[in-house]
Amino acid sequence: MSRLSNMQNASLQSFAESLNRWPAEIISQKMQTTERRHVLSALKTPRPDPTTLYQLLSPAAEPYLETLARQSALTTRQRFGHTMQFYAPLYVSNYCENACRYCGFNRRNQIARSALTREQAVKEATFLAEQGFRHLLLVAGEDRRHVPVGYFADLAQQLRTKFASISIEIYPLEQKEYAQLTAAGVDGLTLYQETYDRNVYADMHPAGAKKDFDRRLYAIEDGARAGMDKLGIGALLGLSDWRAEAFRTGLHALYLQKKHWRCQLAVSFPRMRKAAGGFNPPTNVSDKAIVQMLCALRLVLPDAEMVLSTRESQFLRDHILPLGITRISAASKTNPGGYTLNNEDSSDQFEVQDNRSLQEMLKVARQKGYDPVLKNWDKTLD
Ligand code: SF4
Repeated sequence: MSRLSNMQNASLQSFAESLNRWPAEIISQKMQTTERRHVLSALKTPRPDPTTLYQLLSPAAEPYLETLARQSALTTRQRFGHTMQFYAPLYVSNYCENACRYCGFNRRNQIARSALTREQAVKEATFLAEQGFRHLLLVAGEDRRHVPVGYFADLAQQLRTKFASISIEIYPLEQKEYAQLTAAGVDGLTLYQETYDRNVYADMHPAGAKKDFDRRLYAIEDGARAGMDKLGIGALLGLSDWRAEAFRTGLHALYLQKKHWRCQLAVSFPRMRKAAGGFNPPTNVSDKAIVQMLCALRLVLPDAEMVLSTRESQFLRDHILPLGITRISAASKTNPGGYTLNNEDSSDQFEVQDNRSLQEMLKVARQKGYDPVLKNWDKTLD
């Protein structure tokens, strides 16, 4: 915090303050006292506000899940048409200086580590481009000694002609570093808060720079100020009560949407998966809960992208695709070198559940009436 300027502090506090106004007890009390009539009213006239959000996420909304799903699907069609955007993650390093208890890349785990050279990363990206992907997400564990900012700038410069969009999911940067990356061709920033509950956050992040909850909360806005066009947020589901996490994720999205209105916002629903270290999630998040969360957020955030990764099973992905998802990954590998390098000496971050190829996923999307989008300026592509 001491490194932040006064102006930055003021900005940070505005969302931190808003978050502080919603302690777990208040969220729980609001949801528990929501009644059928409130849910029906929220379904009739959903508003982009906290009240609609907790009403649609409440236990009282569960009997109306089908109506919620229908409305969510309709709203998504009205706002996004029949498009479904495909992207691929490219893991470039699994070195990490943090010790997140739930993650396979935790620095305390004895796993095989590697960082791709620039040439190796370009080879992996070229493979993905040849598969047809035009949206690339560069992912790395949080250790800038192995993959410094200049590394990502070099990659973006080399890859910008192959991809319509290059996003990053890496360690938090300073604003000027994000600006260096936007100048090189990076246009999207994904930074999950993991959990919006400060106590759970402190427990889950015992060591490394990631211990600083506020710094992480703030960094995504640094990216927005540096010119990132797309911002991605999310909470890791399974760490804490899902209703409260979904509610606070929605609050964050509403705040970012208002403050950084030029940016396209994306919300993800990453659910805990088996990973090195054998961490057991403290709470269970059912498929039904994922559906309620997705649909409630869609009605409150009609213009936000909703993202689904291969963490989820084929069954769930196929079923919730039409309910509100607008961006989806396919054929993902979560270890550095996983696509082309047969890199047995590099561990993955978590187990992928849906291993279907891009072509198979394109087929599924078309069967469901979508025009798969692999690049922004060309709506359909075989
Ligand atoms: S979640 Fe991210 S920061 Fe935490 S250990 Fe894994 S890679 Fe590192």
